[in-house]
Amino acid sequence: MIAAQLLAYYFTELKEDQVKKIDKYLYAMRLSDETLLDVMARFRREMKNGLSRDFNPTAVVKMLPTFVRSIPDGSEKGDFIALDLGGSYFRILRVKVSHEKKQTVQMESEIYNTPEDIMHGSGTRLFDHVAECLGDFMEKQQIKDKKLPVGFTFSFPCRQSKLDEGILITWTKRFKASGVEGADVVRLLNKAIKKRGDYDADIMAVVNDTVGTMMTCGFDDQRCEVGLIIGTGTNACYMEEMRHIDLVEGDEGRMCINTEWGAFGDDGSLEDIRTEFDREIDRGSLNPGKQLFEKMVSGLYMGELVRLILVKMAKEGLLFEGRITPELLTKGKFETKHVSAIEKYARRLHKTTRRLVPDSEVRFLLSESGSGKGAAMVTAVAYRLSEQHRLIDETLAEFKLTHEQLLQVKKRMRAEMEAGLKKKTHETAKVKMLPTFVRSTPDGTENGDFLALDLGGTNFRVLLVKIRSGKRRTVEMHNKIYAIPIEVMQGTGEELFDHIVTCISDFLDYMGIKGARLPLGFTFSFPCKQTSLDAGILLNWTKGFKATDCEGEDVVYLLREGIKRREEFDLDVVAVVNDTVGTMMTCAYEDPNCEIGLIVGTGSNACYMEEMKNIEMVDGEQGRMCVNTEWGAFGDNGCLDDIRTIYDKAVDDYSLNAGKQRYEKMISGMYLGEIVRNILIDFTKRGFLFRGQISETLKTRHIFETKFLSQIESDRLALLQVRTILQQLGLNSTCDDSIIVKTVCGAVSRRAAQLCGAGMAAIVDKIRENRGVERLEITVGVDGTLYKLHPHFSRIMHQTVKDLAPNCDVTFLLSEDGSGKGAALITAVGCRLREAEQN
Ligand code: ADP
Ligand code: MG
Repeated sequence: MIAAQLLAYYFTELKEDQVKKIDKYLYAMRLSDETLLDVMARFRREMKNGLSRDFNPTAVVKMLPTFVRSIPDGSEKGDFIALDLGGSYFRILRVKVSHEKKQTVQMESEIYNTPEDIMHGSGTRLFDHVAECLGDFMEKQQIKDKKLPVGFTFSFPCRQSKLDEGILITWTKRFKASGVEGADVVRLLNKAIKKRGDYDADIMAVVNDTVGTMMTCGFDDQRCEVGLIIGTGTNACYMEEMRHIDLVEGDEGRMCINTEWGAFGDDGSLEDIRTEFDREIDRGSLNPGKQLFEKMVSGLYMGELVRLILVKMAKEGLLFEGRITPELLTKGKFETKHVSAIEKYARRLHKTTRRLVPDSEVRFLLSESGSGKGAAMVTAVAYRLSEQHRLIDETLAEFKLTHEQLLQVKKRMRAEMEAGLKKKTHETAKVKMLPTFVRSTPDGTENGDFLALDLGGTNFRVLLVKIRSGKRRTVEMHNKIYAIPIEVMQGTGEELFDHIVTCISDFLDYMGIKGARLPLGFTFSFPCKQTSLDAGILLNWTKGFKATDCEGEDVVYLLREGIKRREEFDLDVVAVVNDTVGTMMTCAYEDPNCEIGLIVGTGSNACYMEEMKNIEMVDGEQGRMCVNTEWGAFGDNGCLDDIRTIYDKAVDDYSLNAGKQRYEKMISGMYLGEIVRNILIDFTKRGFLFRGQISETLKTRHIFETKFLSQIESDRLALLQVRTILQQLGLNSTCDDSIIVKTVCGAVSRRAAQLCGAGMAAIVDKIRENRGVERLEITVGVDGTLYKLHPHFSRIMHQTVKDLAPNCDVTFLLSEDGSGKGAALITAVGCRLREAEQN
């Protein structure tokens, strides 16, 4: 229709009377605004169909996603090559983008001939030709030894599933090389380049010329979001909202859509405005029935259209006094360049567009250097992103431990355990291997009512546990959770224990049992040096605790003193219990094979049944005793430094106990989120995330809780939901940001699970050797929210144990309230033994 307007203009240059006579020819070509608005509505419908999943397969206007999501952000730099194939010339460009102070672009280009027989020959020949021209260009530029990133402007309808792939749907314009339709042109070009073997190229992007044009103009004017080509052919692209593009996953942001509008009308929807001349042009074309809109609009056809009209008019004596020259009868003789009013043509296009959409302010910008520069810019953006990915991968590679490295961790853990057990080395050992004076797992005869305290994690709890032995063994529990304010956690020891006793008092009132002097088990989940079941000297605080005057003291004594100070009730403190031991005991109550306890919660630790003869710190050679490994301190002598990253060191440096619990700080809930946050800060600083902007939120310590890792890594979660989570955290992320954050979380939690598995492998293999068996069947009782709620932690940990200790069949049993029930069980066993001693 635009061509029709042009023709109308062309003929107004003729004499008045002639105009009248030829009016009947042109009548069909003059389109009223009413008709144009109608055509506009039809085109809108076609676009909608092309974008929808259901209608795309049959849509004629294909609306192809280009995977170009962003326009240059100004940080691109580098040396690029652009190939521009599909217009009148085949052009190769070298585009150097630098940015010292200001981003500047420097270009050199070369035009190559594409002979007709190559355009119409075999695809192999065509791509050999392209590869040869590229070789020649690189030779001239003296860059044959470099592997520069290449952007390939390929101006034909292509289906893309990523930036560096383009499946040719159909040739258009003058091209018709065989064996290319349905194939990936990047693959074909790569093949041709490989075959030559004299240079290398890294084709990073296939770009339609409309996209190239938009990007070229977009480089100078950020508001340019439409690309239009009216040359040999015609086509347009524009930035569409992702949520409207059914064919690409994700709803975030925008993507450039190559409309391939040349095919508009191929389903007959323009028949009412097509003339006999349009039909004749189509019949004589290389692709009859196709690109009907293009054939009414673009340069390849316009001259021919005029010629056909002139011939007809001459034949009817309306022109040239009825004389028809042989030239006029020759197809292609009248070229579009002869239609001289091109300048006015543009103005007419602008005017018509503005008239039809009066509500939009449309500005037209001429693309100076064609689509080549744009292709280079697309490539530059792609290159920046891929370079970023490479650096991200490189950083996260430090979190990927090989089988060899994990075996090393297992071996070192084993060595540290031995050091902790031996009298000679115990003092300096970091993995303390503390005897717990728990000598056996429950046998089912435990009976009675017990109190239990659980201190050492997120919550402080007081429990009443009623254990009944006999045929139907039952355990009934009542508990109440109390907060420990941070100022109490980090205040004086007296304040801490006064607070604990206040909570117990409240609980006894609540249960109505203040008078009954019940036996109590104190689950105290910090490293304690025990000399008996009811004496435990705190070696050092871990996790978030830091109360003064406790380290070096017997915590049972501190508790008894607290109770005395209150002068309100009396209790019989029977046992101090580590939570790992409580967990093991709880699970052992169900499964006698359970001889290991593991915690992966706020902190991480493990205990297991060791042979008395190996525990040099306790007299006696007979039987077994549970050893609290306190493996969290593994690595505190530097033996894990080779696998610790700068992020681990940062988390450690800013913790309450710098330099301590290095293994725990790579594994447990209190720290994983912090590791992730530190990586995110670094990635943001390096410009990989959040547009390089470090928000106040991201700077806030502990803001990124480990529960967010669980949420973000959940397989059921779409990227959009990841974004929502990050938004709740005050982190404004794009879709790409969300992918990176998820990758970071995955790397951190996987390493945690593997390290934990390596430690467990050391324990099970030690037990197997202790017992001198080929194969060991053993159960591990596990507790801890990270282990229980993280979507992948437990699976990865189990797999690692399997890989590193292949001779052990390890079952993992989830403990239900190990610290409460376990403490009661230990207390019950303690009471039983005490009574046995007294009698
Ligand atoms: P504790 O070890 O303190 O006795 P938990 O076993 O409940 O208590 O562990 C609490 C830790 O678990 C918290 O430090 C937190 O980091 C982590 N956590 C809480 N919720 C989740 C979750 N959904 N996924 C992973 N870790 C979690
Ligand atoms: Mg706990």
